[in-house]
Amino acid sequence: MGRIRVLNDQVANQIAAGEVVDRPASVAKELLENSLDAGAKRIRIEVEAGGRRLIRVSDDGEGMSRDDALLAFERHATSKLRTADDLLSIATLGFRGEALPSIASVARVTLETAAATEKEGAVAGVGTRVEIAGGKILRVEDAALPQGTTIAVRDLFFNTPARRKFLRAESTELAHVTALVTHYALVHPEKHFELLSSSHTLVLAPPVARTAERIYQIFGKETLEQLLPVAAELRLEHAGLPEPPPWKREPGQPNREPGALRLTGFFSKPELQKLNRNSIYIFVNKRLIRDRLLIHAITEAYRNVIPPTSYPVVLLFLEMPPEEVDVNVHPAKTEVRFRQQAHVHDFVRESLRNALIKARPAAAFLASLNSEPSASPSLMPPPASHLPGPPRTGPAPWSGRPTEMGQDPLPGSLGQNSDHNLPDSDPVGPTQEAAEPFSLTPRQAEPFAVRLPFTDQGTAPGSSGQQFGRAAWGSTAKALFEPAAGGGVDNLRPAQEGSGAVESAAATALIEVEQSATNLNHLGDLRPLGQLRESFILAAGEDGLWIIDQHVAHERVLFEKILRERQTQKIERQRLLMPLLVDLKPDQMAVFSCIAEELGRNGFEVELFGPQTLALREAPSGLEGAGLERALVEIIEQTAADPDKASPFQGLTRLRERITASVACHAAIKVNTPLDPERIRWLLSELAKTSHPTSCPHGRPIALLYSWREIDRAFHRI
Ligand code: ADP
Ligand code: MG
Repeated sequence: MGRIRVLNDQVANQIAAGEVVDRPASVAKELLENSLDAGAKRIRIEVEAGGRRLIRVSDDGEGMSRDDALLAFERHATSKLRTADDLLSIATLGFRGEALPSIASVARVTLETAAATEKEGAVAGVGTRVEIAGGKILRVEDAALPQGTTIAVRDLFFNTPARRKFLRAESTELAHVTALVTHYALVHPEKHFELLSSSHTLVLAPPVARTAERIYQIFGKETLEQLLPVAAELRLEHAGLPEPPPWKREPGQPNREPGALRLTGFFSKPELQKLNRNSIYIFVNKRLIRDRLLIHAITEAYRNVIPPTSYPVVLLFLEMPPEEVDVNVHPAKTEVRFRQQAHVHDFVRESLRNALIKARPAAAFLASLNSEPSASPSLMPPPASHLPGPPRTGPAPWSGRPTEMGQDPLPGSLGQNSDHNLPDSDPVGPTQEAAEPFSLTPRQAEPFAVRLPFTDQGTAPGSSGQQFGRAAWGSTAKALFEPAAGGGVDNLRPAQEGSGAVESAAATALIEVEQSATNLNHLGDLRPLGQLRESFILAAGEDGLWIIDQHVAHERVLFEKILRERQTQKIERQRLLMPLLVDLKPDQMAVFSCIAEELGRNGFEVELFGPQTLALREAPSGLEGAGLERALVEIIEQTAADPDKASPFQGLTRLRERITASVACHAAIKVNTPLDPERIRWLLSELAKTSHPTSCPHGRPIALLYSWREIDRAFHRI
């Protein structure tokens, strides 16, 4: 007899369970996705012991008939897909038909479901209860139930002790479940979400009209104030799937319509910086995914606006025809493959970059005091900061109290688990193949309190704090909640150095950016008051008092000017009276030889003077002496340290910007330099004309605003 056997279903399901359900959060994810696929409007998730003892998800979706309720636990049984062709355009979150049988093979499951009466085989008020444990059906009975489905999963991994051992602390698992519910709540503001842990309410999010309101419900006012909205659309030139050959086409079947890419979302002002990319949330067709390509596009948009070691906070909701994205890449469905990768990448980068240019948000003086890049997870606000909420608008008086998550944050040891090993700071590039493994919760999740939804709790009525809250709320709400007016619509600028994908796609993209309350558009109109320590410019404006760092301001002006000159090959340069000799180490010499040509185009005329010595005869104007030497060595060292230099296109653009940034930095007005009012005015008006007056090319802030609101508040006038 041969040695090969076909595994029975029970074993096959447990193997599948290894991929699909590895922890309570992944069970919750599958159940939640099923509820959303069933069209539920209200979803309630209850967990006990971090989900190990119980995960129960109840919904008011379409429910199942008795036959379907039993079929649902069969392997590869799904209502969402019929033919292999359907796989090419999946519009539901689930489609593999694996989740329920997998879960049922490693836990005790109770399913209670009742279908809408118009559904085949459904009788009003009569539902079905199914009990399964370890893959065996124990009982099936009729039950009086309201329409919808409740699935309770108890004692996860009760029959696979080896798996149970790998579960993390309860609080860790709970943090993962909370993050999961939070994500889905963000992408479905119109639905009601509720998460309870042992009868504490962790998330309560009644339906709201807009994503901004949902962000407020979940993360609070401070977070919302740090974010700016973005919306853009790009009509694709052609559909991502090739046309079937003529003989396979159905008669009369029209050609595939090229669809559109749509992007909405929120992105952080440059002053808010994170040390890892855990605060970048990407949803594609309402599915949360991890994608290196898009993270790359986002960091590209922020290049030379925030430091290269920092990441922004971004919530990105991308919508595209289902044919444009392959979701069948990973059993947990957290990775996707775009059929028109370059278009999607460039579209995201350009939309964000343009939104940043358009918004030019002013950095608040007080906020910048403690704006060190933080590794704190995601958008979650620090637990202590509790500001009064906005006027109550929804019918959601909530008597519960915000519950703190357990004290045990995701342990550092999480890194050892390859599933959740997020390399935080290594560079990403579209050339890198494998998408990174994906954890639903940021690595260093901290305890956090979920915001009170639209209540004024915590402030006595009429107290000054509340007034401030309301006033502040007013401006934020105005900026974020009102639909973009016609005036906020702009054509997408063609990519400056992109692969051409966006330009060639006829750039019909539209960008709508609602202006934030204060921006840097009027820098040129400020009234200079003088200098502080001959380093900082003080100026008065309509919004309040401005403090401008003269060195970085000039650096930004020069940076953008030189880049423009470089594009038209007209870099200003000057001949040195005496050649400047620069000694390099052998490894620096090697880097120099790779970049000598680009250096030449940027105004550095360099000759070899000895095996390890360079002679500089000509330099970009504004650079001389020690500054010139330092700029050159800096460029060489930074290039040596750039891991992306291997990719020729990426490498060249970056190299060019690096050279420009160094030249700008060393040629710019220094601190401790007196400036007359004329020069100050000139500098401010030049700065106002730049694309990113918010920060210098290395990501430092340029101008801080001490707003009237802050001034009045500090003097207790409001
Ligand atoms: P998939 O979601 O990939 O189809 P699942 O194993 O998760 O596979 O679910 C199997 C089937 O059970 C689904 O296709 C759906 O028809 C049904 N189902 C599961 N959960 C629900 C629910 N909450 N409401 C209605 N139907 C459900
Ligand atoms: Mg499913």
